[in-house]
Amino acid sequence: MRHLITGGAGFIGSHLAEALLARGDEVFILDDLSTGSVENVRHLKAHPRFHYSFDTITNKQLLAELVDESEVVFHLAAAVGVRLIVESPVRTLETNVYGTQLVLDAASKKRKLVFTASTSEVYGKSDKVPFREDADLVLGPTTKGRWSYAASKALDEFLTLSYWKERKQPVIVARLFNTVGPRQTGRYGMVLPNFVHQAIEGSPITVYGTGLQSRCFCDVRDTIQAILRLVATDRSVGEVVNIGSNEEVTIDGLASVVKQRTDSSSPITHIPYDQAYEPGFEDMQRRVPCLEKLKCLTDFQPSTPLTEIVDRVVAYFHSRLPEPIPVSGALSAATAAE
Ligand code: UDP
Repeated sequence: MRHLITGGAGFIGSHLAEALLARGDEVFILDDLSTGSVENVRHLKAHPRFHYSFDTITNKQLLAELVDESEVVFHLAAAVGVRLIVESPVRTLETNVYGTQLVLDAASKKRKLVFTASTSEVYGKSDKVPFREDADLVLGPTTKGRWSYAASKALDEFLTLSYWKERKQPVIVARLFNTVGPRQTGRYGMVLPNFVHQAIEGSPITVYGTGLQSRCFCDVRDTIQAILRLVATDRSVGEVVNIGSNEEVTIDGLASVVKQRTDSSSPITHIPYDQAYEPGFEDMQRRVPCLEKLKCLTDFQPSTPLTEIVDRVVAYFHSRLPEPIPVSGALSAATAAE
């Protein structure tokens, strides 16, 4: 099979590309490298079934050509990361809403299946834990930047589902809950890479707010498995499905796990939200997915334990550390031995 991944040089997109290539498929990626990176796909570039275009999804002609080549369009291109969203709200709204519309429009001309990646952010401040796909979304006021992300992704969902309802364009919407793993960068505010980086460096591990807020972290391998299973069944078409783990941990708890797994001497410090993000910032207190629908459609449920997830991220960070610089004596000894 042949596939297009928008946002294919991103953290999740690059793992998806790898998984599709590994099972023998052909992969086209389209990524403007705004939050994705060439590094994420460098190891795939020489693969004969991997094709990359570093361009924007607003290049309609290129998008149409790539959609033509593909049977499934995985639409992962989006502005992501709470820090990026708070700092660049215009870009968030434009990329997410306009980009999705272009992808759906191109795909609907050829009736290609579109998988739209949405986010658990859309549940907003809801306290009806665990979050079911048919539950109400509870967003904060438009004056608070964070909610523009949730609103833009909710609009993406409406758009995607409308193409199904009105035009019988096959679509699937998945709400991803805190996907983590190797290659995720802390640059846009994501907590796990930030903590691991801080712990390895020996600098303070910065917990925002009280640290009592909780999340469920899902290994990217599980996320990819769930995505592949969802697109493999016709029963997913027209559906909105949660993808995540249900192992809940507080952010204080996560900081302790990271500190312990890295054997770090870093102190754990607490920073008020208005210093970490912006005055009046609102966070979600608990975020746990209901996974019944995913299980029912795919017979799969993410289950990688948190400690294993953290260990994989730690190993990734270690693999990227520059080689320790040898002291001059050690260097001459090594040279002499050669
Ligand atoms: N967070 C934190 N320290 C950081 C980055 C994030 O304590 O360096 C907190 C953040 O306030 C939130 C949680 O960790 O409560 C998860 O943040 P992330 O941005 O990874 O995901 P999301 O907020 O979308 O769940």
